[in-house]
Amino acid sequence: MGGAGYIGSHTVRYLLDNGHDVVVADNLIYGHRAAVDARAKFVHADLLDVHSLDALFQESPIDAVIHFAAFAYVGESVAQPEKYYYNNVTGTLNLLHAMMAHGVKKIVFSSTCATYGEPQYTPIDERHPQNPINPYGRTKWMIEQIFADYKRAYGLQYIALRYFNAAGCAADGKTGESHSPETHLIPLVLKAVSGERDYINVFGTDYDTPDGTCIRDYIHVEDLASAHCLAVEKLDDYNGCINLGTGIGTSVKEIITAAEQVSGKKCPVKYAPRRAGDPARLFADNSQARTILGWAPKYTNITDIIKTAWNWELNRKY
Ligand code: UDP
Repeated sequence: MGGAGYIGSHTVRYLLDNGHDVVVADNLIYGHRAAVDARAKFVHADLLDVHSLDALFQESPIDAVIHFAAFAYVGESVAQPEKYYYNNVTGTLNLLHAMMAHGVKKIVFSSTCATYGEPQYTPIDERHPQNPINPYGRTKWMIEQIFADYKRAYGLQYIALRYFNAAGCAADGKTGESHSPETHLIPLVLKAVSGERDYINVFGTDYDTPDGTCIRDYIHVEDLASAHCLAVEKLDDYNGCINLGTGIGTSVKEIITAAEQVSGKKCPVKYAPRRAGDPARLFADNSQARTILGWAPKYTNITDIIKTAWNWELNRKY
């Protein structure tokens, strides 16, 4: 579900390259039809349309579901919580209902480090208390709880992958990041570099970090994709929640410097006040992903990640 979106479309390609048959279901509200690999079967379906879900499971033999489909704008979730609870939580309940009705017990889910809220320590491991501070994070946290209950009651086999900051684009330039509106730092910095936007706002320069700007853990989308593939294959052995990050923190200023280096151009910057709800530093303890999934990130250098994003920015397909 949600296989036409940013992380979904990269995972679909990875699964196909590794011998899996893939059915992509997406409502195309935020996803792009052009992002879906031609080797996958595409079905137009919506989590809030129970008939389209029923038809999906009726028509395709499905062993496991990877569920990316969600609304994910934090600010909008504060202004319009109903939209988020309804789409993300009710939508997932509908999906689980259809899965149970058709005897499908396996699911890998896009969760988020936003379920932790304000960090009490870093690096953040999976035992860190979860106190999400916005409706978006709460929808993902609720869904994790629902999975645990469905496991106990109905034998659901699940892995919820708590992503840190997804970044970068396919190395071959065929798929990339295309959000509308775009709110994420790296694509916005690259648009400021290319001249598509006038400047980048740096939200806060007075954080308690070495250069005063926020630190995040940017994980390449192809490393997220490989982790989903491993998670699907591990569902018989492990159920629970796993962080996906590189374990490396990079500041906003470091992102801007790396983007300038990759592009050879200057990034126009404006310094703006802090954005509400942004913790100073977030980065993952990824040891569970390494030990349980046997996963390791291929991209551990922010410059290499930004190179793939800049390549996409120059040659975007959608
Ligand atoms: N950020 C920024 N300017 C922007 C967008 C983001 O300074 O126009 C900062 C933001 O405050 C955060 C980091 O970049 O510290 C990453 O933000 P993003 O929205 O990409 O991801 P988030 O961490 O919110 O999931």
